Amino acid sequence: MLVDRFDRLISYLRISVTDRCNFRCVYCMPAEGIAVSPRSELLSFEEITRVASVGAELGLRKIRLTGGEPTVRRDLPQLVEMLASIRGIEEVAMTTNAALLDELAAPLKDAGMSRLNISLDTLDRDKAARIARRDEWDRVQRGIEAAQREGFGLKFNAVVMRGWNDDELGNLVSFAHSCGAPMRFIEWMPMGLTGQTDRNQTVSWREMLGHLQTRFDLEPEAPTGADPAKMWRCQRTGARIGFISSMSDHFCATCNRMRLTAQGELRPCLHQNAEVDVRRLLRGGASDDELAGAFREAAGLKWAGHRMNDIIPLYSSKDMVSIGG
Ligand code: SF4
Repeated sequence: MLVDRFDRLISYLRISVTDRCNFRCVYCMPAEGIAVSPRSELLSFEEITRVASVGAELGLRKIRLTGGEPTVRRDLPQLVEMLASIRGIEEVAMTTNAALLDELAAPLKDAGMSRLNISLDTLDRDKAARIARRDEWDRVQRGIEAAQREGFGLKFNAVVMRGWNDDELGNLVSFAHSCGAPMRFIEWMPMGLTGQTDRNQTVSWREMLGHLQTRFDLEPEAPTGADPAKMWRCQRTGARIGFISSMSDHFCATCNRMRLTAQGELRPCLHQNAEVDVRRLLRGGASDDELAGAFREAAGLKWAGHRMNDIIPLYSSKDMVSIGG
């Protein structure tokens, strides 16, 4: 079992398969993008699968593929098949902007992927183009339809930014509900080179809840394990809403996550600048025990929680796009 210094069981690995993305979202990376790594520095499918297999021996049960945008990595269904066949892994899921799902939904489903979190920050086409700095509206809509067609378990995620999309919360809930999925609102978080540290951009979950209660008669759902989202349900419609409150009311005490970057670093926490290099081990002929040692080292480094609310706040020096959220 992989347990950190605070007795938190690490059972969920978020794997970034690329630092490339077909969007340039304002809350994720600078407009000019970032300097992406040469392909030779990205882990191969075999290397990713080996790390995940060692992790499964240590008790990892769930894998989520992230990026950048994971669907821009060529032959992604091949990797999904490799990961889904690892003994002990119960779920392979993915977070995506859905722009390439029209082509990929069916092969990903066939390969063993079960759940999708789709990033949907607005229902306004022009605003979507401003947030993503790309106009991929039609492809995103077709991608969402394809995900439904293939019967994926779906959730929609929106990063809520004051003055950008905090006026659309109710409509987003209704849209997600019409797709049979919960809508989850993520508090905006300062990270990396996006250079934005204006905490006023953050709309707290309580503020969002207050706003939504003017339209929905909401009741809280019982918390479930390490799920970061605080879930609420509309009594009248059954619509489900989640709040991921990293800034105003973090959930670090029950964190079960570890991350693997596309370049092969194990990162114990999204907002902690600590990493253990497993690519060097993999390409240096390391044994599975040595890789297991790297997992334990990373777990041993993990903070009790992020320190973005400290008197002198500490932020991730890396952008979201380089870690995968
Ligand atoms: S900030 Fe770090 S410790 Fe807290 S929930 Fe996120 S990954 Fe876990």
